[in-house]
Amino acid sequence: MGKMVELKVVDLKKYFPVQKGFLERVFSRKIEYVQAVNGISFEINRGEVFGLVGESGCGKTTTGRLIVRLIEPTDGRIFFKGEDVTFLQGEKLRELRKKIQIIFQNPYASLNPRMKIGEAVGHPLEIHRVAMGERKKKLVLEMLEKVGLEPAEKFYDAYPFELSGGQRQRVAIARAMILNPELVVADEPISMIDVSLRAKILELMLMLKDESNLTYIFITHDLAVAKYISDWIGIMYLGEIVEIGRKEQIFSSPGHPYTRALLSAIPVPDPARAKKNVQLRGEVPSSINPPSGCRFHPRCNFAMEKCRTLKPTLKLVGKDHYVACHL
Ligand code: SF4
Repeated sequence: MGKMVELKVVDLKKYFPVQKGFLERVFSRKIEYVQAVNGISFEINRGEVFGLVGESGCGKTTTGRLIVRLIEPTDGRIFFKGEDVTFLQGEKLRELRKKIQIIFQNPYASLNPRMKIGEAVGHPLEIHRVAMGERKKKLVLEMLEKVGLEPAEKFYDAYPFELSGGQRQRVAIARAMILNPELVVADEPISMIDVSLRAKILELMLMLKDESNLTYIFITHDLAVAKYISDWIGIMYLGEIVEIGRKEQIFSSPGHPYTRALLSAIPVPDPARAKKNVQLRGEVPSSINPPSGCRFHPRCNFAMEKCRTLKPTLKLVGKDHYVACHL
């Protein structure tokens, strides 16, 4: 039997209007938009991990927030288990929120400092009227144990300030997992915790995934992290996916110059390989007035004339491997 598609995103867009000062509003009626996400499409099979990779400002966090329905898209569609959930409201949206959870980047900001850990982890159970009182406490204690916060009773009554960054991120994971979700969007979940603890958090996330056949969207700026955890990788640049494929293909035969530059940023002990590194030039341009044609052309070492005017679309270059580049 073929794999079940858990999530499908079709031509998703999110444009944010630019906030202008008073004088600018008086003298210019033109509304400008930040094109945070500009028509991306991908799908994820149940039980697999899709790594969404790019520099900061590429639109990967906005994509995650669109998928969990924290913000509304400007255009495009989101399908979860075949159902169009793009504009669900009311009770149906509440039901969806039980099944799709998010883990935020900052374990310090994502927990209420006045709420004990037990309350924070049990809160979703109350909101969704799944469990209250002693039953809720039992489920929370079991979850704290599962994410390695032991003795669970001690952590249940602790406040966030009493915990390390790694422990707080375990709390955030426990809170996301307490409702037994089916899809979890993890937005840079290890970037703000100590390097020595990162592997343990990734191992924990993989263990929880395997246990419940979860599906992950793992958002990261770090290709090495994506390599560790993902089955599939999508590379985002200025709001668009420029390459997408199985992890092995992305690493063995990267097709887009941007992917190759990101790969070069991963330290390697081999000086011969290091010599072949592709360096990224300049800064990421503004997504208010993005470059014409290929959005990567001002930074690309291989840019040709047509790259400035003609936008490349994703083309099949190998089995399940797509690249948007004129080369
Ligand atoms: Fe570079 Fe042109 Fe390919 Fe864009 S389309 S990545 S500018 S070669």
